[in-house]
Formats: sequence, structure tokens, C-alpha cells
Amino acid sequence: MKFNRRNFIKSTAICGCSLLIPSCSTVPVTGRKQLNWVPERMIKYISDSYYYDFLDENYLRIEKDEKYMKRIQDIGYNIEKGIKKYFEFQNEDFRKFKFDYEINVIKDKRTLNAFAMANAKIVLYSRIIDFAESDDGIAVILGHEMGHVIARHVQERISQRVTLDILTLGIAELVTEIGFFLPWSRKQESEADYLGINFMYLAGYNPDAASKFWKKLDDYINEVKKYKIDGDIITAINRRMPQWAKTHPSAKQRYKNLNKWSDEVKEKYKNFI
Ligand SMILES: [Zn+2]
Repeated sequence: MKFNRRNFIKSTAICGCSLLIPSCSTVPVTGRKQLNWVPERMIKYISDSYYYDFLDENYLRIEKDEKYMKRIQDIGYNIEKGIKKYFEFQNEDFRKFKFDYEINVIKDKRTLNAFAMANAKIVLYSRIIDFAESDDGIAVILGHEMGHVIARHVQERISQRVTLDILTLGIAELVTEIGFFLPWSRKQESEADYLGINFMYLAGYNPDAASKFWKKLDDYINEVKKYKIDGDIITAINRRMPQWAKTHPSAKQRYKNLNKWSDEVKEKYKNFI
């Protein structure tokens, strides 16, 4: 066939459109419909490369104590079992929500933070583990982070933000920028809390620990704010402010919600566990 410019443009346009045709998926537990057109293989590839770069850069700070890590990983493993149990409870297919989780801890006594990537790689800073105090507290954090993964929040954020940036920046950069550096929306945060408390309860942890964790964080934020006296100190304090609080708005509202949801999950699964 001879090269025909009009056909070429038409076929390119069709290819482009089929890549970007909006498609919907449903978030487990909340049942919310979300926009998600991002191919899983692509998001995995980009997340993996970002994750392994992060581990390389932080190699000396990665916690390698086997006993310490076993405790954290066992909690993660239990939450995974809780997720599986949820799908059994609902009689739904678990396969689409099975991820290859991996948890790493960064030895850092200043950073009160944790994050999860779309490829189910989770990073906790040791300070948030100390702050969480107990296994139940750590289950709150891991349940929440795995909630972001199960709800495919990164993919949703990317899907919502498709603009001409995609042509100028390129897909990899756009995914990195949106997927890793923008804070979650309030709706996604709240959803991850809700998924998290369901999963941690099904995993055998005390769901009351979730509101307790957020109450403690709210008290801590208020305590830190008291010392905002002048510019120099503010800079120092901002560095000490928990990342989780900066990117996760309204701690007060969250512990109120979690308090309510704790009773809800106990009732919902009472004949199941
Ligand atoms: Zn979150």
C-alpha cells in the first residue's frame, strides 16, 4: 500500500484515542466508580524504576535488622490476609487486587512519614513506627497505605490529569510527577482510611487503634503549632511537622470518622470472623 498522508493521520488519531478512551473501574469496599485508563504494566514499570532508585539512594539508611523487619513484615502479611478475607466475605474475585507487596523501613528519627507506590512497594520511616507504638498502630498505617494501592489511587490521579502535558512532558515524567509528588486528595485519603480499617480488622487487629493514632497525631500537630513564634523557628518546625499531617489534611475529622467506622466494621463482620 502506498503511503497516504490522510490515512496515516486518521490511523494515528484512532490509535491515540483508543489509548486515551476513558475507562472506569470500581473501588473495592466503597464501591466508588473511578476513572482509570492507565495500563497496569506501564504504571508498574515506572513505579519500579522510581522505587529502586529510591532504595539505591537511601541504601545506607534502610533498616536491615532481621528481627525488627520481621515484625513489620508480619503485620503487612496479616493485612494482606485481611484484604483476601474481605474479597471472600464479598464473594468477589480477588485476583485483580492481588499485588506483590514489599515493605522497607528507612532509619530516620525525624521524618514522620510513610508512603505507598502503585506497584505496592511501601516505605515507612522509623519515626512513624515509634509513633504508632503498637502492632495495632502499625497495622493502621499499613492498612491505610495498602488501601491506596487497592483503590488504585495513583492511576486515578493520573487518569484525571490527562492534558496536553502528556504530549509535552511525556508519559513517564507525567506519571512520576503526578503519581509521586502530588498529595492525595481529601477523598482519596478518607477512602484509604476506610479501606484500611476494614482490612486491619479482618486481619485481627483492634480497629479502635485507628482513631487513637489520628487523635495522637492531631494532639502532636497542635503541640507543634504552639511553638510557631518567629520566622526562624517556623522553618525548623515545618521540618519537624509530620509529613502525614501535611499531605493528609484534617486529622480531627479523620479520627472522628475512624471512631464511627470502628463500630461499623465490628458490626459488619461480626458473623464472619
Ligand atoms: Zn494516605
